Amino acid sequence: MSGPFDLTGRLAVVTGATRGIGAAAAVALAAAGADVVGLGSSRPPGEDVAGAVRAHGRSFDGIAADLGDRAAVRELADELAGRDRPVDVLVNNAGTIRREPAATHPLADWDEVLAVDLTSPFLLAQAVGRTMVARGSGKVVFTASLLSFQGGITVPGYAAAKHAIAGLTKALANEWAASGVNVNAVAPGYVATDNTRALRDDPERSRAILDRIPAGRWATAQDVAGAVVYLASPAADYVHGVVLPVDGGWLAR
Ligand code: NAP
Repeated sequence: MSGPFDLTGRLAVVTGATRGIGAAAAVALAAAGADVVGLGSSRPPGEDVAGAVRAHGRSFDGIAADLGDRAAVRELADELAGRDRPVDVLVNNAGTIRREPAATHPLADWDEVLAVDLTSPFLLAQAVGRTMVARGSGKVVFTASLLSFQGGITVPGYAAAKHAIAGLTKALANEWAASGVNVNAVAPGYVATDNTRALRDDPERSRAILDRIPAGRWATAQDVAGAVVYLASPAADYVHGVVLPVDGGWLAR
């Protein structure tokens, strides 16, 4: 394979690669030519993901780290930044969500969501991005959300974290674009993964969501993975600070 989306010889790190969007992104990056380091919270991604990456002739290295634990994140960040083989692509995908009304939203839930969805992506981007800036190339892809633009319902910590991810994407892009490092984000719409199981299990919410999606269907993880590959590829060399919705037209409505 060659061309603007070719990632042959690149090393991509994907957090949250055990399932959902991260698993699909890991496999799609491998299909484009990248070797992959995939992360899970308590155990590395399973053979379903590792095998699918290797089936594309690429290497897969699995790691486990709790991204809600700041010390573990710092250790991971140092490990990734200190590798002999530099990281070319960092996909900050791992995320968690807590659904509780704002008036009674537990502080522990707020803290956990902010730690996993905002602080850990920042610390990883900071450590790995520093090495990219020093080398003069690299791609950082954050995972934003429609709740980077909208408030959502009963997920105040998640909406705050995802709005902040959009700001962080632009802040890092401004600092690192001149050094040949692209920082962008994908903003998935409603994707059928574990993250949205509660919504899909609620017939009223599920129907209300579907009714508003011009594409007439929920997204698959693969829908989002294609956008991740694009932002990780040379095709996006002149794209900086973008938060790219992959939402079936939701925001256009
Ligand atoms: P998912 O299916 O629930 O998977 C979440 C992934 O994040 C898993 O790999 C999980 O690892 C990892 N993770 C969660 N907590 C972690 C922690 N404390 N430490 C390390 N890893 C942790 O979610 P998804 O739908 O694919 O979502 C991926 C990203 O897209 C998230 O940032 C999410 O906010 C965002 N997003 C999703 C949607 C959607 O509709 N699904 C929409 C917009 C944005 P384990 O399996 O090891 O727990």
